[in-house]
Amino acid sequence: MAAVEACTSFFLLNQEALLMAFNQDEAYTLLHTHFQDRVRRNEPLAKYSPLGIGGPVDLWVSLESMQELVQLVNTCAEEHYPLLIIGNGSNVLFADAGVRGIVARVATHSYTVENLGNGRGLLIADAGISWPHLAYELADQGWGGLEFGADIPGTLGGGIVSNAGAHNEDVGQRLQWLEVLDARGANLDGEDTIAYPMVRRYEHSELDLSNRHSRFRVQRCASFDKDEHLEPSVRTMIEPGEIILRLALTLYRDDPQHLHQRLKQFKAIHGQQRQRHAGPLFKNPFGQDASHLIERAGMRGRMLGNVQVSSADANYLINLGGAHAADVIGLLTLMHEQVLEQLHIDLAVDLELQGEWEESGGREQPVGSAEQA
Ligand SMILES: Cc1cc2nc3c(=O)[nH]c(=O)nc-3n(C[C@H](O)[C@H](O)[C@H](O)COP(=O)(O)OP(=O)(O)OC[C@H]3O[C@@H](n4cnc5c(N)ncnc54)[C@H](O)[C@@H]3O)c2cc1C
Repeated sequence: MAAVEACTSFFLLNQEALLMAFNQDEAYTLLHTHFQDRVRRNEPLAKYSPLGIGGPVDLWVSLESMQELVQLVNTCAEEHYPLLIIGNGSNVLFADAGVRGIVARVATHSYTVENLGNGRGLLIADAGISWPHLAYELADQGWGGLEFGADIPGTLGGGIVSNAGAHNEDVGQRLQWLEVLDARGANLDGEDTIAYPMVRRYEHSELDLSNRHSRFRVQRCASFDKDEHLEPSVRTMIEPGEIILRLALTLYRDDPQHLHQRLKQFKAIHGQQRQRHAGPLFKNPFGQDASHLIERAGMRGRMLGNVQVSSADANYLINLGGAHAADVIGLLTLMHEQVLEQLHIDLAVDLELQGEWEESGGREQPVGSAEQA
């Protein structure tokens, strides 16, 4: 236990020192030689967040291939630059004060399907591929298996991290194996040494996949402390330490028309425009539905600032326009408090907080100012 605590405080000190030492100009010059105008300074993260919230990041990098991702991670390990890798950002809340260091997003379209015979196929896809786009493309080709994600606005890699699912299916059920770039050594590294990341392969059984959980999600979600303050998880130099590069999923043969019907049906179930949403906010406690609990606590439709609890599904928030991360934190805190007080259930947060938060994790706005919609 003492060793874990010592290691955690080393991480914190190390991370703080690295953020302080990060030289934006020097890093920009170096990264610009590789990625040209896909590197941007002081880029507002709100532009890249489906919720439309987030202050500036020192350096933003758009990556177009997994090779570029490996190159960037290696450079950050060599230069001790703080790096955060995201997919589509649909499970992350960025702070109003933004994120220090580098945030990179990889958007790729590369995949193959191997026909295994007997109506089965093996999809091998880059982690940065958009899940809904891929599901539609596969349906055109008569391959099924990913339609349940028609309404999940993320990448396949981000989907594995939370073992994302809907309609009683989850992506882990289809996963065979995946490859990661293991940069955990770089996170333990001192200033004078370099630990180069290594590619590693994991089989399904090694991934600890369960309800909205995988080995990649341990301690990544925000959590409420005993004083009802929302705490972000500890940030490491290269975040996440294990970066998913490629994954293999099983598919089945089906009629394209039937697959498109399924996609339409799964899209129609939510039935509403899901722009500027965040969620699911809380995990379903065993045998219960977080949305129903939030509704029972009277929080459906409640507003704080320009953020509202969705009336269609109370486990989601909507940015009504110009909302701040502080409003989201305030409303999340109020939802958590109300469910705890009225129903005695301590809901676990299902979102990740990234960036520069005030010590209390936010709450600049008094939660008492929440209005009824
Ligand atoms: C409107 C809306 C509807 C949603 N519906 C559902 C739903 O029905 N079911 C459900 O389960 N979820 C749902 N979500 C949540 C979210 O879309 C999923 O968790 C999604 O899988 C996240 O993917 P992403 O690419 O956006 O990941 P991000 O939010 O970008 O990242 C999430 C985490 O994964 C990490 N990560 C991203 N890519 C990689 C990688 N290649 N390697 C390692 N780590 C990586 C990031 O660092 C971060 O820690 C919904 C969200 C919204 C906004």
